[in-house]
Amino acid sequence: MNNRLYGNLIFELSKKGRKGYSLPKATYRHATTDLPSNLCRKKEAELPECDELTVVRHYTNLSHNNFGVNDGFYPLGSCTMKYNPVINEEIAALKDFAGLHPLQPKETCQWALDICQNLQKTLAELTGLSEFTLNPYAGAHGELTGLMVIRSYHESRDDNKRTKVIIPDSAHGTNPASAAVCGLQVVEVKSLADGTVDVESLKTVLQEHGEEIAAMMMTNPNTVGMFEKNIPEIAQLVHDCGGLMYYDGANLNPMLGVARPGDMGFDVMHINLHKTFSTPHGGGGPGCGPVGVRQGLEQFLPNINVSTFHGNFGVMVKAYAYIMSLGKENIKKVGPLATLNANYIKESLKDVYELPIEGVCKHEFVFDGLKDKSTGVTTMDVAKRLLDYGYHAPTIYFPLLFHEAMMIEPTESESKETIDGFIRVMRTIAKEAKENPELVKTAPHTTPIGRVDDVLAAKQPVLTYRKMIEDKKNG
Ligand SMILES: *Cc1c(COP(=O)(O)O)cnc(C)c1O
Repeated sequence: MNNRLYGNLIFELSKKGRKGYSLPKATYRHATTDLPSNLCRKKEAELPECDELTVVRHYTNLSHNNFGVNDGFYPLGSCTMKYNPVINEEIAALKDFAGLHPLQPKETCQWALDICQNLQKTLAELTGLSEFTLNPYAGAHGELTGLMVIRSYHESRDDNKRTKVIIPDSAHGTNPASAAVCGLQVVEVKSLADGTVDVESLKTVLQEHGEEIAAMMMTNPNTVGMFEKNIPEIAQLVHDCGGLMYYDGANLNPMLGVARPGDMGFDVMHINLHKTFSTPHGGGGPGCGPVGVRQGLEQFLPNINVSTFHGNFGVMVKAYAYIMSLGKENIKKVGPLATLNANYIKESLKDVYELPIEGVCKHEFVFDGLKDKSTGVTTMDVAKRLLDYGYHAPTIYFPLLFHEAMMIEPTESESKETIDGFIRVMRTIAKEAKENPELVKTAPHTTPIGRVDDVLAAKQPVLTYRKMIEDKKNG
């Protein structure tokens, strides 16, 4: 991997006057116009000048430093990095889909609207809810949309005191953030030792704030991967106080074919198509976070879009292709397989990694670092050492319930051999931590960059190539 060009910026490879392109002679000379001088730059643009092969090598080398689901196992908890079948991409790239214009007359794109409607109906069937909007661009955007639906519902009843949302202390950070953006205050409810909502704590919260509660947001399976077994009672308590139940279904894959939020008493939910239905995500997008409501709330779904036009249509096509390729029978296996894979890893490693929450998990679970704390090897060290073995690290230091959290989610699409390989490596690292802790603490040893200083990178980000080159020269 370490060839001569490696590690250079494209600007450093630049040689004045070198070209990697040739343009045809202008045939329509008279069609060119001079730009008004006030629109022209005063100085030449400083662009890198490289030959074609150098450019190709530079970007190919950069791409080799990337790690994706197609490179190896990627057990990033909460993010559901499952395989994205290429057929989904091919279908979404068909000219009839990719070439659509958002303003073209609807009679000329009925097939596309048909896909949206079929997807809405399918989501309603899979969740037991009445109707979905596909507009939101992501999970967080879905949460905001869902909370706006809830606020509209209360406003329609002139019930304007309801400005608070109950959120469990283990929730994904987007939950309180969405509530805040929606102008609602967060009231936290505590978890029990097994990570599920403490019903007694909820009762206290409801006694104190009942009249002001707009909704309770719940993630199920929750952030530590456990099924919230008291949902019927919780829903009853919140409904009795006049609040609505919101289901964060970002990771709905463990529920597919097993249970439906609509049947559990939830009123509003979002699903992350980009986690649940295998559309690729990462690096900020694109995503799609459809919001569903139970019967009686349909009129509060956004009739003025919360996104431009219909939202991220390409993501919808990919999710729909995935659902259709599995079919009604096979989609029922998604939940049980995701659950089996996670429990298999958990049980195979809990003698060497600290398992703070015992019991059957769903699609993911959390370790609290190595069991043997005497080695001084941290979760960060284990995560870095995994890179040496060619694995992506799990999610670390989240959720905040545990100091050394390591959140592992294999997803349903991994084979037993892949999972066994990961288990072997995790055991090897635990052994190394005992026998040669320095090796683990100084990992990674094989990646182009070792450990970056996260704090410095956040406080003094180097954002220009000139500064980077300067810093390089100064060592
Ligand atoms: C990923 C996730 C979200 C946020 O989804 P985005 O698409 O990243 O905005 C919300 N809740 C849970 C539980 C998640 O895992």
